[in-house]
Amino acid sequence: MNPDRPTDATAGPTGETIAIVGAGQAGFWAAQTLRKEGFTGRLVLIGEELHPPHERPPLSKAVLAGEAAADSTWLISLDALQALNLEWWPDTRVFRIERERKRFVLDSGETLAYNKLILCTGGRARMLSVPGSDDASVYALRTIGDAQALAPMLKPGRSIVVIGGGWIGLEVAATARKRGAKVTVLEAQSRLCERTVPKEISEHLLALHLAHGVNIILGAEASSIARQADGRTQISLADGRALVCDAIVAGIGLEPNDELAKEAGLECDRGVIVDSRCQTSDSNIFAAGDVAVAPNPWAGRPIRLESWQNAQEQGIAAGRAALGLPVDYKPLPWFWSDQYDMNLQIYGVPAPSHRVVSRGAPETGSFVLFYLDGDVIQAALGANSAKDLRFAKRLIEQKKSVDIALLTDMNTPMSKI
Ligand code: FAD
Repeated sequence: MNPDRPTDATAGPTGETIAIVGAGQAGFWAAQTLRKEGFTGRLVLIGEELHPPHERPPLSKAVLAGEAAADSTWLISLDALQALNLEWWPDTRVFRIERERKRFVLDSGETLAYNKLILCTGGRARMLSVPGSDDASVYALRTIGDAQALAPMLKPGRSIVVIGGGWIGLEVAATARKRGAKVTVLEAQSRLCERTVPKEISEHLLALHLAHGVNIILGAEASSIARQADGRTQISLADGRALVCDAIVAGIGLEPNDELAKEAGLECDRGVIVDSRCQTSDSNIFAAGDVAVAPNPWAGRPIRLESWQNAQEQGIAAGRAALGLPVDYKPLPWFWSDQYDMNLQIYGVPAPSHRVVSRGAPETGSFVLFYLDGDVIQAALGANSAKDLRFAKRLIEQKKSVDIALLTDMNTPMSKI
């Protein structure tokens, strides 16, 4: 028993304890919001990692490239964290939630009783399952430690194979090229980022990476990994081909950390199911960030958003909801990715049924593609067009008809549409 950690839910000055499990981006914003909104009770922020709450996007970009220090990702300094008057329990894992007793159990066996609980447990990098996947030359990228382990491998003379042509895989490929490593990307599907972008954008990404010297093999399925006598690693493909490299990076997606919730009997479906108040099937438990599956009117169904924007905004919403404040969280999804000198942004959820019109040509490197239902914009994807995309966001949210001739005319500022 740790004497600094009273286990009583009524240990706070106002007799209320709110505990947040997961001290990542969503957990941090929930904690900060609780204090900002006037919660004076006991606030406990528990996280498995040693680092203070931090953002992950730089881990595949500036931090991996060696251009930024790991602590530049911190969302708050240690002093400011202390000033929030919360108990931050780093390096601590919650093992089980006992809902009927409104308490949870840590790996150490300690327990903590709560009045309200917010689950912000995020997700973990999905692991490869082919034979040889546990070789030390196989890397994943989710944490600061992962980025620090991989970074030294990205240098001239080294050859990297990235498995997975999704966002993380492509950002690693871009950073590795920037650092002078040779890169091959293996993608099992017939196009890059197939799950998240329409084919026009997949083609743009393909052309971009080819132009930067990345070898991309589509429809490629890794079948086994084996370390050679010379210390290099051979990766065999299902079609009989084989590649030899110095490191393999698995960028094959995320597994939501929803086991705690599932074992506690909360409704889950590849993530913790919440309503637009971030409330789970237990009225005292909320969830936010990568682990939460929430209704989304823009997608027309409940979805789990793996994005910086959602981790922050849903974390804030969950903090407010835990205090009983009005919350109706229905975000227009927004995601960005930086690869080489391209900043790509996506607002909304493009669908195959949408008509696509273009503002600017993809060949120029700066363009926006609009996805329309009739003459109403449903989604916008663009490269190096941040200002136009900000206007596009407003047009999507307003759900107003637009004049397509004006929208696609580069001489008409977006502000005039
Ligand atoms: P996390 O940040 O994963 O935090 C969850 C925390 O909970 C972790 O620290 C974990 O250790 C802890 N935890 C889990 N289980 C327990 C337990 N039982 N007990 C205690 N603690 C627990 N998004 C974008 O929009 N644009 C980008 O360019 C972009 N780039 C990215 C690059 C990388 C390399 C990665 C990994 C992600 C990127 N993202 C990007 C996504 C974005 O960073 C995530 O959506 C965001 O970090 C999710 O925050 P979260 O708080 O929900 O989860």
